[in-house]
Parts: sequence; structure tokens; C-alpha cells
Amino acid sequence: MNHMDIIMGNVMENATEIKSEVMIELKKVNMSFKERRILYNVDLQVKTGETLVVIGPSGAGKSTLLRLMIGLLRPDSGEIWVDGQEISQLNEDGLNQIRRNMGMVFQYSALFDSMTVGENVAFGIRQHTKMPEDEIHAVIKRSLRMVGLMGKENVMPSELSGGMKKRVSLARAVALKPKIVLYDEPTSGLDPVMSTTINRLIMSTQRILGVTAVVVTHDMDSAFTIADRIAMMYDEKIIEIATPDEFRQSENPLVRQFISGVRNNCIPVRRRG
Ligand code: ATP
Repeated sequence: MNHMDIIMGNVMENATEIKSEVMIELKKVNMSFKERRILYNVDLQVKTGETLVVIGPSGAGKSTLLRLMIGLLRPDSGEIWVDGQEISQLNEDGLNQIRRNMGMVFQYSALFDSMTVGENVAFGIRQHTKMPEDEIHAVIKRSLRMVGLMGKENVMPSELSGGMKKRVSLARAVALKPKIVLYDEPTSGLDPVMSTTINRLIMSTQRILGVTAVVVTHDMDSAFTIADRIAMMYDEKIIEIATPDEFRQSENPLVRQFISGVRNNCIPVRRRG
């Protein structure tokens, strides 16, 4: 057990029991922006408790997929099921109920510059709950301790490095012990040491809280480290979904080209059109 396991105590025991169920499901989802189609009849299941990593070329629709899952976008057609509820037609109140069990780590950390670290972490709690202030302070402390930023609650985001900001963003995402955490490029712009730290935090969060995680990334090392399964998006669809081992052995030429392109720092497969 590492220190995070001890902090979160016995929550761990429930973490792996329910892996066969589905936490998020997309059924025949279509999505366009103006004339441009981004997703075509996409079907996807994210199993309860798994970490699904989504990869694919720039512009393939990876962030769009995450934003659909948290109800920040509505699909043109199709169904999006989250924790047993179809969310694509829910109003803001309904979506806020669903989001109570979801955390999101945005691509550029998305911290409020005018708020302290503690206020940033507590933002969702103050918005979504009537939790008393003393409990909120306990949650801030616990969440910051989880990401190794104990005692930083009164610091302003401008005083933090990029890696620390990502960790605050992660603390905010897990503050209410969500069932689901969505990560958009959690290691982008970070040095390898900080990337490793973030990868470890993602894995600990999944293991300790038992969360279902969907991680969008271009970082293949990170993908192979943290994923239970990897899904590759290309040309409006998910063209492959497999465990990391199966993915490495994939005979799909687009998958092979993408993996080697990213590894060799070349331009990966391009989208048609
Ligand atoms: P990257 O890896 O570069 O972040 P991505 O795979 O996450 O890319 P998305 O951000 O989902 O791709 O965007 C997919 C396409 O949809 C892009 O061409 C993008 O410009 C377009 N797009 C995304 N959001 C909007 C929007 N709100 N309005 C119009 N077009 C959008």
C-alpha cells in the first residue's frame, strides 16, 4: 500500500468487483460542427472501473467525445448512457445531477486565475452541494494531499508550474469522489518526470476510488502505462479498441502507422478530406 491507499482507506475493496458492468455507453452517435461531420454512428462501451485511453490524430474528435460524455455537447443523433441514464436530452438540472458523479481534467488545467488553489478545488462542491464550510475545508485538504500538494490551498495558480496546475485540476476533479473521471491530455506540455507523476496519480485514483476513467492523450507511453484498453479514433469512427498488449500487436495498418509515427515524432496518419 502506498500513502494514497492509506489516505483513502477501505474504499479500495469495492474497486474491482463490478468491472463487467458498463458505466458509459455511446450508441450510434453522430456529431457534426456546421457542415463537418466529426463522429459517424459511433458505438462505444466504457466498462465500470476501467481506464479507457482514447488516441488518434489531431482533429479526430477525441475531445468532442469527452464533451459529449459529460453533456457539454449534445449529439445530432444517437444515445449517450452514463451510469444507467440516457443523457443526450437532459436539461441543465438533469445534467448537473449526472455531473455530480463526474470529474473532468481539462486540457489546459482550466483553473480560475483569480481564485486560490483551495477555492479552485472547492468550486464544484460549492456549485453542486450544500456542504458546510468545515467539511469543504476537509475535502480540500484531503484532495490536495492526494495529489501531493498538501498546504497549498492559499497559493494562487499563477505561482504554480504547469505540472502543479494539472495536479490541482486533478484534485478538483476527484474532490467529490466521483464515479467517473474524464481527462483531456493530462500530460501535454509536461516534462517526463511530471508526466510519470500524473500517470501514477491517474492509476492511483482509479485503483483507490474505483473510478471509471476515460483519458484522451497523444502520449503513447502514458497510454500503454495507464490503459486497461485503448481506443483509436480515425475518420469519424473508433477503428480499434483493445488491451495495450493487443494494441501493440495490431495488424491494422492505420494503428501501426499511428503508433510508430508518434514514437518517431513524425506526423501521424492524416484524416481524409
Ligand atoms: P486534438 O488532438 O488536436 O486536441 P481532437 O481529436 O481532440 O484534436 P476535437 O477537439 O474533438 O479533436 O475536434 C474535432 C474537430 O471538431 C476539429 O476539427 C475541431 O476544429 C472541430 N471542433 C471542435 N469543437 C468545435 C466547436 N465547438 N465548433 C466548431 N468546430 C469544433
